[in-house]
Formats: sequence, structure tokens, C-alpha cells
Amino acid sequence: MYTLSTEKLTKTFVELAQIPSPSWKEEKVLKYMIKRLKKNGGDITVYPCGISSNLLVRYEGTTNQPSILFSAHMDTVGPCDKITPVVTKTKITSDGNSVLGADDKSALTMFIEAMDYIKENRIKHGPIEFVITCAEELGLKGMKGFDTSVVNSKYAFVFDSGGDIGKIVHKAPFHLDMKISIKGIASHAGIAPEMGINAIRVLSKIIAEMPNGRIDEETTTNVGIIEGGRAANIVAEDASCLLEVRSIDKSKMIKIEKQINDIVKKICSQEGARFRIEKSLEYCGFSIPESAQISKLAVKAMERIGVKPSFVALGGGSDTNILNRGKIKAMNLSCGMEKIHSTGEYIKISELKKGTELVLSLIESV
Ligand SMILES: [Zn+2]
Repeated sequence: MYTLSTEKLTKTFVELAQIPSPSWKEEKVLKYMIKRLKKNGGDITVYPCGISSNLLVRYEGTTNQPSILFSAHMDTVGPCDKITPVVTKTKITSDGNSVLGADDKSALTMFIEAMDYIKENRIKHGPIEFVITCAEELGLKGMKGFDTSVVNSKYAFVFDSGGDIGKIVHKAPFHLDMKISIKGIASHAGIAPEMGINAIRVLSKIIAEMPNGRIDEETTTNVGIIEGGRAANIVAEDASCLLEVRSIDKSKMIKIEKQINDIVKKICSQEGARFRIEKSLEYCGFSIPESAQISKLAVKAMERIGVKPSFVALGGGSDTNILNRGKIKAMNLSCGMEKIHSTGEYIKISELKKGTELVLSLIESV
């Protein structure tokens, strides 16, 4: 249906991958994106965010189809000081010393190449928007710092999920971070242990009683960091831990949070310790039914290019979670990247091509 050049696609991807872009240091990739998207007719606005920037790129429509939004991030995890992409017959890998950065430069490539193709082949389309973010890997900081109300589109597709083209992430969890701090009483551990209250021991009892790991198919919790005490001969006065609770169902997340609160209260009162609980909602979840208009659009666009769609729920967050906060309906689509966040990261060239076809098909199907 679309006759894309494999060489051109590969070249763009390699050029992007070669530019190191750790979180907050995306400037060179930003410049590259501006150059390429300006060239094919994009109207570009740079929105400063933290010490970096997000990018909004608009293409005026030539038909009266509704506006459609695509999104991806520019930053990559490390190691990424020097990236040397290795192109084989079927895939692109790093040289083994760094990540490849297909997360998420595969998506950036697809966006550039799709717009080049539209321009070259004079394909008719409605208005198209791209939001290209910074600092996604640091906890979605770029998208969190972007005012999504400037976007015109009602439907958004984030290209930032692993695996072959065809995966539609229509559910992702709410994510709550919690910190539990316990205050005991310090005392000499050898001379007067009975005068002390050991905060480490109190916290251990709390953690042992707390729900842990997979609670059900859409709910998880984990204690990730624990700190406390000053020396082996002092009854520990302070101890704290950081934990997270995730669930696609907000009420389940709140229920676990309440359980944890109750356990902390109960054990601290039994042990005579004081406590403080801090919490912050990292991001909201989303759950879009398969019957929704945006789901039908994704399915139609995939079937049109011979891709079999499959709906999945994901346990992690992405810029999609933030986009879904407002009026926009957003889904996260797989963009062919594999073994992300590792030096074994790779992408099949056939998937790079399929993904670009999918961008084009979404634009034509909306
Ligand atoms: Zn990513």
C-alpha cells in the first residue's frame, strides 16, 4: 500500500540513534527533529520544560478529517554516551556498549518518515499534531510539564511500547508512591536497650504484614528502598521505606493504601513508635474499552495494512497516562523496539517500516 524506502528509513533511524540524548540533554535530537519536520512542512513550537524543551509540531489539514495527535519522547536511558548502531540485513542493534535508543527513536523515525512520505506523494490528510517530549524516562517529566490544552486533537497515539507492531495498550495503572517514616527512641544497645524503641524493628513488622507483590491481575505493590539506624550499638531511632502501589482500578489502589495506613497505625501503637506517611500520585491510570471510537480507529488502521491488532493492559506508565488526564483520548502502541533499557536493545527493520505504515494508515483512517 505504501512504498517506503528501507534505506531512507534506516538512515534516519541511525542518524537519530547516534545522537546521545540522556534525559534533560535532548537538545541535539530536538534540533534534528526541528530540521526534519520543518523541511516537510511542519509548523513548530518549542515549549521550554525544566532545563530542556518539548516540541509541538502541526500540519494543516488538506481535508476536513478530524485532527490526530502522535507522541513520542526524545530521551533515552543509559549507557548512552556514545552510540554506534550496527545495521544487519534484518535488524539494527547497538555495538553492545550502549543502549540503542530505539526507545523511543524508532517512533521519532516513523513520524519523520511518514510526514516525508505524505509530502512526496501528496497524500490528502486532516490536521496532524506531534508532541515530542523530553525527560520521559525520569518519570514522564516532559509530558507532565506540557500544557496539553494547547492540543487540538481528540485522539492521540503514543508510540512507546515494546514488541511487534499491532499491540494496543488500552489500559495502564494509577501509580502511587508512599514513604513511611518511623520514629522510635534511641538508647545504648548494650547498657539500656529496654529504654529504647527500635524503629527498624517496628518498620520490619509493618513491611512483613503489608500486602506485597502481585495482588491481583491489575494491582501490584512493592517496597523498593529501606533506610534506617546509625550504628549497631544504638537502638535505631529512625527508619523509613519507599514503596509503590499500582492498579488499573483506582479504587483498588486506594484500598491498598488504606490497608497500609491501618497496618502502620496499628503496629506503631502496639510498639509505642511514632510515624509519618507521605504519598504522591505519580500518574493517573487509564482504561479505554475496545468498543471506544479510538479503539476502532486503531483496529481499522492496522487491518488496512495487514497487521493483526491485539489489546493489552500494561503494568507501567508512559506519556499516555498524562495525555489521558484531560479531554484527549490516548493509547500507547507498540513500535517494534525490543529488549529496551538494555545494551541488547534492537529493532527489526521490517518493524520500523510497519510502524511508519501504521502512522500513515492512522492519518488516512481518522
Ligand atoms: Zn520509552
